[in-house]
Amino acid sequence: MKITEIQVPNYELVKKCEDPESGLHAIIAIHNTFLGPALGGMRMYPYASEDDAMTDVLRLSRGMTFKSAVAETGLGGGKSVIIGDPETQKTPQLLEAMAKFVDTFEGKYRTAEDSGTNVHDMVHIKKFTEYVTGLPLEMGSSGDPSPYTALGTFLGMRACVEERLGKDSFEGVHVALQGVGHVGMYLLDHLVKGGARVTVCDIRESTLQAVKTEFPDAQVVEPDTIYDVDCDIFSPNAMGAIINETTIPRLKCKIIAGAANNQLRDDEDGVRCREREILYAPDYVINAGGIINVSVELEEGGYNEERSRRKVHNIYNAVKEIIQISKDEQIPTAKAAYEIAMRKINARA
Ligand code: NAD
Repeated sequence: MKITEIQVPNYELVKKCEDPESGLHAIIAIHNTFLGPALGGMRMYPYASEDDAMTDVLRLSRGMTFKSAVAETGLGGGKSVIIGDPETQKTPQLLEAMAKFVDTFEGKYRTAEDSGTNVHDMVHIKKFTEYVTGLPLEMGSSGDPSPYTALGTFLGMRACVEERLGKDSFEGVHVALQGVGHVGMYLLDHLVKGGARVTVCDIRESTLQAVKTEFPDAQVVEPDTIYDVDCDIFSPNAMGAIINETTIPRLKCKIIAGAANNQLRDDEDGVRCREREILYAPDYVINAGGIINVSVELEEGGYNEERSRRKVHNIYNAVKEIIQISKDEQIPTAKAAYEIAMRKINARA
């Protein structure tokens, strides 16, 4: 196993691991640990190049720093990525090598499931390192983070609905969801139960079949037409960078609120949303439910579902505060969220 440290300005520690025996090719990035040990999921994805994987891990680990700062989880920001197809290249040997790579950080980085990995993978990883969270509830851990991410996103959306639509319920509110995977499906459930009208898209036929069976009133559209749906809320729950120069002019919504990470392609997109009078709920604020749930596992006394749900409800207040700052200072909501995060980080720096 060959581990190489890579110097990246403004990041505390970035290491690459290559292990020809197991086929592991991975990067772990720690962005910042001022507020606590870095925690962020382990993503497995068939990146086209190591450069692409590096870009992703750096963006994601930085986002984790801000997410945890705003949510006050007592954690710092980090993330890991494995280059490879989780469908065909994820083996017990590869996960064992990855666990040993995580272990070299001696607790400064802690992992959890993410896109391309799951709770079962974390159980296997636990055999080789103690620095793993998000294990099954039966193991005294916090389980699948997705329902908590969806709950937080729903509550953050509610704050936006009150502000932008002047309504205190989802009754008749039209939401267009891009992606109905782990988080999207739970979110859809909250929305339908709350009385919302929903339009969805996904690239997986099996997922759309499940939507049609469980939510027969949901309208399904082709993935590339979701940006054009005339709706109240556009909700990204699939990939990052989809709010950009090309998509913003197409949007016919009043609010953007979803769970996907890194929704804005760059800072200018926050300004563009504001110019179009679209209220953007900063992604790392409303999708923090999962990390909040995991952080409760690390608190004294261990995991407690009730405490976790209570903390996730704070996302509603966080979004309200951001909207207020954005109005008071006449700045994009994304900038207001960044200001809050930096204030909390600098207070401990
Ligand atoms: P997932 O892989 O289960 O779901 C993503 C869904 O999006 C899949 O159903 C996929 O088929 C679909 N999709 C992919 N490309 C698409 C496209 N072009 N158009 C429409 N649909 C497309 O992932 P998830 O765990 O539900 O996470 C969703 C997003 O939320 C990701 O950006 C993730 O980083 C973020 N997030 C997840 C959590 C969590 O707790 N799982 C926490 C914070 C943030």
